[in-house]
Amino acid sequence: MSKYRMRTAAIHAGESADPLTGASTPNLVLANSFVVSEPQGFSINSFEDERPFIYTRWDNPTVKVLEEKLAVLENAEDCLCFASGMAATTAVLHGTLNPGDHVVVSDVHYAGAAELIRSLKQSMNVDSTPVDTTDLHSVERAIRPGSTKLIWIETPSNPLLRVTDIRAVAEIASSSGALLAVDSTVATPIATRPIELGADFVVHSLSKYIGGHGDAIGGAVVGASNLLQSLRTVERIYFGGVLSPFNAWLIARGAATLPVRMKFHSDNALQIAEFLSHHPKVDKVLYPGLSNHPGHELARRQMTCFSSLLSFSVANGAIMASRMAEELDIIHYAVSLGSYRSLIYWLPTDEMLSTAFLLDDRLAAKYRESAGDGIFRLAVGLEDPDDLCEELDRVLSVV
Ligand SMILES: *Cc1c(COP(=O)(O)O)cnc(C)c1O
Repeated sequence: MSKYRMRTAAIHAGESADPLTGASTPNLVLANSFVVSEPQGFSINSFEDERPFIYTRWDNPTVKVLEEKLAVLENAEDCLCFASGMAATTAVLHGTLNPGDHVVVSDVHYAGAAELIRSLKQSMNVDSTPVDTTDLHSVERAIRPGSTKLIWIETPSNPLLRVTDIRAVAEIASSSGALLAVDSTVATPIATRPIELGADFVVHSLSKYIGGHGDAIGGAVVGASNLLQSLRTVERIYFGGVLSPFNAWLIARGAATLPVRMKFHSDNALQIAEFLSHHPKVDKVLYPGLSNHPGHELARRQMTCFSSLLSFSVANGAIMASRMAEELDIIHYAVSLGSYRSLIYWLPTDEMLSTAFLLDDRLAAKYRESAGDGIFRLAVGLEDPDDLCEELDRVLSVV
């Protein structure tokens, strides 16, 4: 753990004044190759751990600033950045699974990862079992002793905001010889530090809260150095999905204000979740910060704030979605989350079930039960919450 507290670490970890110029903010080093002071090998296999910067696909000083910052914030030994959250996801899956292995995975979570994990059957002969990871017995039952090598959870999950008990799933993983990966994009290290709870890998889309400004795309895997070592060689250097130094610079700049932004994101989201809960046009609101959320008690234990992703449903959601796309002003009708700007998007249940999740009948019925014909996913930004409530009220109240 850093010797400093979170707000200080977010600003200072990984950074120091430039010894050459005295520049107090991190340099943006766009060079793809570096002059070395003595001849160096040419293959990654010929290098020791301590090597100079040689080529940016291997290591880059600006990317390293961000990696050190994220490792400190997650209280982990090491961090590897990738070109996107999906590249980070791919790195963990490909780096831990071999043909014939089995993975246990949350039944409803980020659609891209859900689709990718299902596709592993064909591409790598890796079987997956989707389970409701809030139900620990289902997780235990899904384990295939000897062949389950990875448990993949996302908490809180996008878009249904399910909260999974990381410590309990970590115990199941370690007692069955599987590794645990946690997609903690929605929580961020400000709310939850999965490594401290026993996770082996933390995966982030840096395109969301950590970058925070709706601009750069990036991803990260955080964990113990020995686990990240093979990802560093194969997944990063050979597959080559590296983070651009420019994006690393933008994301590190965003990460410096993450603790402060998360506080306002969470405060805003709680106010809006409460407002929507009492709105006559709204059927149901899902937000871990609400006391009626099924994961609320766990969220209070596992999270220090509730982040700002929420979902809600209304009657005739598809019609309301068109109205929102036309009439919203400060809330942008757009995908993604974690920006300082509020973003809303309609996720129709039929489409989610036929493309993203491909659940079996029982799990599909369960999804339909929580989502109805669809849900609005609202990623609450940093605007004044009264303005956000007024705008939602204006659009929701049109008859
Ligand atoms: C966006 C997102 C991803 C994918 O990240 P990209 O940076 O878009 O590739 C993965 N997991 C979650 C929870 C996300 O929200």
